[in-house]
Amino acid sequence: MSVTEKLLRVFRVDQQLRGLQSRLRAAERFLDEQVRQLQQIDARRDTLSAQLKQLQAVAGDNEGEMKRLDARIETLREQMNNAKTNKEYKAFLTEVNTLKADRSQYETAALEQMTKIDELRKQIETLDAERAEREKVRGVAHEDKSKRADEIKDRLVQLQAERDGLVKEVPLDALKTYDEMVRQRGDEAMAPIEELDRRRHEYTCSSCQMALPMETLSNLLRPSTSNAPLTRCVSCGAILYLEADAAERAQGKSGGGKKGKKAQASSEL
Ligand SMILES: [Zn+2]
Repeated sequence: MSVTEKLLRVFRVDQQLRGLQSRLRAAERFLDEQVRQLQQIDARRDTLSAQLKQLQAVAGDNEGEMKRLDARIETLREQMNNAKTNKEYKAFLTEVNTLKADRSQYETAALEQMTKIDELRKQIETLDAERAEREKVRGVAHEDKSKRADEIKDRLVQLQAERDGLVKEVPLDALKTYDEMVRQRGDEAMAPIEELDRRRHEYTCSSCQMALPMETLSNLLRPSTSNAPLTRCVSCGAILYLEADAAERAQGKSGGGKKGKKAQASSEL
């Protein structure tokens, strides 16, 4: 078995590993997003609660002030009733009118505060409903994540063991190249050669679609030796391989139109 073939076995296991983990990663990202949104809701609720408390305190002060004024006005009215002179009566009346004007200002402010307090309470209610909904979604997301993790757990262990075994057979320098390619290109680290036109010897890299020189194919068709170097795409660097059926066709096993085509193809390779 050639180095490319040995590496391809590792690559196929890696593809499965990535595929399995990508579903879990997606579930984890979704869960993280729900947690983040819940935190945002909580922060907004804290701000609104603080505003509400502050307004309620101010409204309470106002109310106290109005009661104090009411009591004072009441006292003045009694004094007015018992006034000895017209002058005295007028003085009390002036004070009552001043206090009434003050009270009216407090009343207007109190009404504004009550409106704001109602608004804040509604906003908090809306937020609480939103939070309850988001909490449900978070619960489902958490379940989904755990389920996915459970589903793939055994398979991951299995694949990892398989990979450990396969990796041991790949020469170290080839493995280094492979790791670097995986880091750069992920699932495109290795790519099969694509046959465009066998008779014209037109082949491309299936990863970047660039044409490949004929020698690329010949390299891959060489009898397997353990130390043959990897064949890379000159354009994108992908480690190239040949699918079994493509290799057969390239070797001319499927026959051609012209006589002697088989022999010709073999000698070229
Ligand atoms: Zn390429």
